[in-house]
Amino acid sequence: MVRRINLKSANVARSSTIRDINRQIILNHIREKNPISRAEIARVTDLQRSTVSLIVEELKNIGLIEEIDGESSGGRPPQLLSLRTAHAIAVGIDLGKKRTIVATSDLAGRILDQEEFPTDPNFEKTISRIISSVKYFIHKNGGSIEGIGVSVPALVEPISGNILLIPHLDWHKPAFAERLRTATGMPVKIDNDANAAALAELWFGRPEISAVRDFILVLIENGIGTGIVFDGQIYRGKGGIAGEFGHMTIGSDAPIACAAGKFNCWEAYASERSAVARYEKSKKKHNGEGKISFTDLVNIAMEGDANAQAALKETAHYIGVGIANLFQGLSPEVAIVTGTIVRAWSLIAGDIMEGAESALCQGYPVAKFIPSTLGTYPTLMGALSLILTDKFASTTTT
Ligand SMILES: [Zn+2]
Repeated sequence: MVRRINLKSANVARSSTIRDINRQIILNHIREKNPISRAEIARVTDLQRSTVSLIVEELKNIGLIEEIDGESSGGRPPQLLSLRTAHAIAVGIDLGKKRTIVATSDLAGRILDQEEFPTDPNFEKTISRIISSVKYFIHKNGGSIEGIGVSVPALVEPISGNILLIPHLDWHKPAFAERLRTATGMPVKIDNDANAAALAELWFGRPEISAVRDFILVLIENGIGTGIVFDGQIYRGKGGIAGEFGHMTIGSDAPIACAAGKFNCWEAYASERSAVARYEKSKKKHNGEGKISFTDLVNIAMEGDANAQAALKETAHYIGVGIANLFQGLSPEVAIVTGTIVRAWSLIAGDIMEGAESALCQGYPVAKFIPSTLGTYPTLMGALSLILTDKFASTTTT
């Protein structure tokens, strides 16, 4: 695969560039094979043993890796290299419409500490609560925290990290990053929740996804967010907000309106709110939405409630229809479905596939669907990844 060089931003290679690339390669081998010996690194990378040893010393000195004893087969145990995970190094903030989670993790992305509280629609109250929680974690970890990552259900300018709008909370340009930076003195990185979750899948997902270079992530929540990964990195487009597929047209008679008031959009057909609306309608409770929470809807569906199951299955059908459109336009290897709805995967997987097949034009291959590989907190993992991946990603751009 040959990528056309971008002469406007290309850096001429310096000797330090090659060294930096080798450093990233070795660090990532240690991250993925954790633990691994120097000899094994030299073997898989084809680098000279002396080069490997030199770089390993450097990585040890800056505290990213450490030596541990391997399994002894009689004599002295072999020395293996492992990521240094003694300390919390990142704080992640997962801002949701209803609840916010603040957590710390080590370099390997393991969550060490976690606090959860309701998101107050009043920005001032929520940011104050977040700041006190973050300060507590920074203090508790005595200087090991290096940065704060934030995942938000919003459009975010990628360079500045400025939030443009959080529609479901009606916060316009909240000074989120600025307030956190001023209060903590730490670097702060903010991204859209679907992009953040896609980044976490790419770096911390199970091997079936971390080995894939092109995938899409579909985050089902109040609305629908999508993250696009091309060639091992998040695709953002020129303005930085690529992937806003929640408002593509799917039909004309959705059970609810989208955030912008239209009944045609994907999120009006396939979001959590649409599933709740379908359930309420089937129960003949015409009291508007919100009578049952989406989490409870999933719970009763899994316990066997037929109306709840039907509501989720119809929603899943439209998740599949929307993803089929993305398949036809982007041709990814895999689509990852993320959100609370994934807890009902055994119930809905077939309906997603059937919805996709119904919408794909003849001859177009159906790509693979998988549920999130990140466990219970994909967007929280996304927030943490914003800080952690800086340690592993090459700083050299081509
Ligand atoms: Zn819309």
